Amino acid sequence: MARGVAQASQRANRDAVPSQTTFEEAVRNAKARFKSAGIRWTSTRERALQLLLTAGAPVKAYDLLAGFNADGPATPPTVYRSLDALVEMSLAHRIPSLNAYVACQHQGSGRHTAMLLICELCRKVDEIVAPTQTILQTVRANSGFRAAAVVLEVHGCCELCQRAGRE
Ligand SMILES: [Zn+2]
Ligand SMILES: [Zn+2]
Repeated sequence: MARGVAQASQRANRDAVPSQTTFEEAVRNAKARFKSAGIRWTSTRERALQLLLTAGAPVKAYDLLAGFNADGPATPPTVYRSLDALVEMSLAHRIPSLNAYVACQHQGSGRHTAMLLICELCRKVDEIVAPTQTILQTVRANSGFRAAAVVLEVHGCCELCQRAGRE
């Protein structure tokens, strides 16, 4: 699994490295979101967001550490806390089945539930914004269960792999 994720990162790196402008915009948006939520924006959070955006694919927290240590040593708890904060603000999403994190593909939108479309063949992850309220209401109406968070993973075959006949 780890190897698949690393390979996907390399492929995505060649395809879509975010431009400096994209990154600056993402940081500006992130700072504003943290500020309005009354949460501190830190250099570690900024670095975590930058590393996720640059990877353009799911990355394991442990693998992010190497990127931090280029600027000065970071400890795993600091990195985990930064990732949690980014996830909390929907700037990144955690993919439970891969035990990895991915930058949100809709950096400009508010807090949301991500529907993550995971290609089983090339490991590419795409994201569409799911109607969270509808999902939470459905859960409530059908079970009385009060849902706090929803993670939606859709596994299958991406368009590129289908076109390449890799199915
Ligand atoms: Zn998102
Ligand atoms: Zn694919």
